[in-house]
Amino acid sequence: MTMDSRYSILFEPLKLGPVTAPNRFYQVPHCTGMGHALPQTLAAMRGMKAQGGWGVVCTEYCSIHPTSDDQPHPFAAIWDDGDRRNLALMADAVHVGGALAGVELWHGGSYVANLASRESPIGVRSMPGRTEPIQSRRMDRRDIRAFRRWHRDAALRARDAGFDIVYVYPTHGYLLTEFMSRTLNDRSDEYGGSLDNRLRLARELLEETRDAVGDRCAVAVRFSADGLGEEHFSVDESREAMERLGPLADVWDIVVGDYYGEEMATSRFVQEASLEAKVADAKRLTGRPVVSVGRFTSPDTMVRQLRSGRLDFVGAARPSIADPFLPTKIREGRLEDIRECIGCNICYAHNYRGAALRCTQNPTMGEEWRSGWHPESVPAGPGGSVLVVGAGPAGLEAALTLGRRGYDVALVDAEQEPGGRVSRESRLPGLAEWARVRDYRVGQIKRLPGVSLYLGQSLSAQDVRDFGADHVLIATGAHWRRDGRGRSHAGGIAELADAAVYTPDDLMRGTIPEGAVVVYDDDNYYMGAVLALQLARTGRTVTYVTSEGRVAAWSLYTGEQEATQSQLLANGVRVVVNSLVAAFDGTRLDLACAYSGASSHLGCDALVLVTSREPDESLYRTLVGEDPADDAMHIQAIGDCAQPALIAHAVYSGHKAARELGNAARATPRDRLVV
Ligand code: ADP
Ligand code: SF4
Repeated sequence: MTMDSRYSILFEPLKLGPVTAPNRFYQVPHCTGMGHALPQTLAAMRGMKAQGGWGVVCTEYCSIHPTSDDQPHPFAAIWDDGDRRNLALMADAVHVGGALAGVELWHGGSYVANLASRESPIGVRSMPGRTEPIQSRRMDRRDIRAFRRWHRDAALRARDAGFDIVYVYPTHGYLLTEFMSRTLNDRSDEYGGSLDNRLRLARELLEETRDAVGDRCAVAVRFSADGLGEEHFSVDESREAMERLGPLADVWDIVVGDYYGEEMATSRFVQEASLEAKVADAKRLTGRPVVSVGRFTSPDTMVRQLRSGRLDFVGAARPSIADPFLPTKIREGRLEDIRECIGCNICYAHNYRGAALRCTQNPTMGEEWRSGWHPESVPAGPGGSVLVVGAGPAGLEAALTLGRRGYDVALVDAEQEPGGRVSRESRLPGLAEWARVRDYRVGQIKRLPGVSLYLGQSLSAQDVRDFGADHVLIATGAHWRRDGRGRSHAGGIAELADAAVYTPDDLMRGTIPEGAVVVYDDDNYYMGAVLALQLARTGRTVTYVTSEGRVAAWSLYTGEQEATQSQLLANGVRVVVNSLVAAFDGTRLDLACAYSGASSHLGCDALVLVTSREPDESLYRTLVGEDPADDAMHIQAIGDCAQPALIAHAVYSGHKAARELGNAARATPRDRLVV
């Protein structure tokens, strides 16, 4: 296949100061949960993106000094020569793929707590950071001089590590933005007061970075197009700053002030190319090449950004995670092979939890080094037949991977449509893009002659035995429990009027309760809140009760919590927090305070329980029993049937089982610092 000439603009090189980007695909800095802790994992992951055609591949936020330590989040670091050697692994891997390597030098200022280094956080003035009961120390002139020296030294180390692009990073609430803020910066010296004074430190870093490494490296700046909130740095000030600082950088990486609500919002709240209007002027204001993001997965949308003159580079974090080979697929005219990001932020959530990056759509993400997995190729298997029961995310991914390995695969599902939970959930408010998990795999499977998909066939254990496949993967999923059993109710909820109790599965299959409905969320990710929203939009009077202190508490990690709670309130949903369901008789719901046990009650006609899921493992158990013996037929449970969890887990589980089928078990190595 050949590339559509419309897309050739995406493959034009562009000079950035002393270096040249080979094309317009630019992986902007994004966190990985790997950082300084997993250097080989990081290098292999970033290198894979370069192999996949990204023309620029950057690090995550890369600390310049121990006073900027974001533990427990695994940031990158370039504090010393050991860090330099570790990061050189990444720069080298990126160069092997033919891309430029960028490093985002970072100082967290008052935002970080320095839990590991135990250094005092430093800031424009003394103030509390994000969560810890620790305040920063006000920087005096000596501190500022030291900070500038650290930044310069870090830039030199970055150059020596092989990086081609070195960032100055005055956005996202870190140290430089404290100086820029009208509200936080109360200084009367040359770093406070006027706009020029508040920008002085950023300007000095830009000049000093250029002076230190500008002969070999491009200087980049990451900057918000629409200020940092009116009280701190207004939209007009941002525009003014872009004009004043414009020539000091070789490339401007443009973001927006609202990080969670806009820049990296999920597909529930924000669509592709959402920053378009805000970045429109950046090129004119700065007079320099501009990159910006927008969860771009459509090549037509990408081309529009370049042709309109808004951008010079298509920036991406998430689309490059979901598909490291996205540029190559466009170049080769294989658009239907693009594995589109679904905008779920499971990637981000794991960095937030201190764990390495993973992705719902791309099960190989983060496994490039440890497991030796490549996103676009799998080793051929020894051959044979496989029956996969269940075409949810686990079964679809398993069948696809097995088909690619050359197995003869029958994929069977009881429903008339494939996709399992993904098909059901993608019909809920805001979750339409999740159907991409199904659509990508079904599209790929259709082109594999060895894989047959059979729908509308519920298989019994005898059917499975009669089928006579060499291997069987059971991917029959899980269902939501009706008895309240879950995190807060180990033994379930004793007194429940069954007729008025509903589960998410009931609602997703079209049974919608009437009247006043309480949604009880003891799962605390998206399902409870999304169902409450759906019920409110269909005219029900809805109360959302949660065992936690806020709506959809776990979605804090995906960056959706605030938007989720605001959305429920805006849709007239009453929110009751820190409350456990004690009993429900069909008209009266008894609650107990999660802390004191104090009781209260609500009148309602129906109760939707979102507590936990039960694996649908009866088929598997009938086949293997409670004490599975070695069997002539290889039988394995995968996905939610084995372990109800995130869609990302199901996809990973299906991929792993399929990739490893027929192979000897392999010990996975542990990444260690190589200093
Ligand atoms: P996962 O997330 O693990 O992929 P899902 O719940 O999304 O699990 O999908 C499980 C799929 O398995 C559903 O589409 C369901 O219809 C199918 N399924 C369950 N039991 C059987 C069975 N006995 N025969 C065929 N398909 C089944
Ligand atoms: Fe996109 Fe979700 Fe993958 Fe992140 S985890 S890259 S948001 S599909």
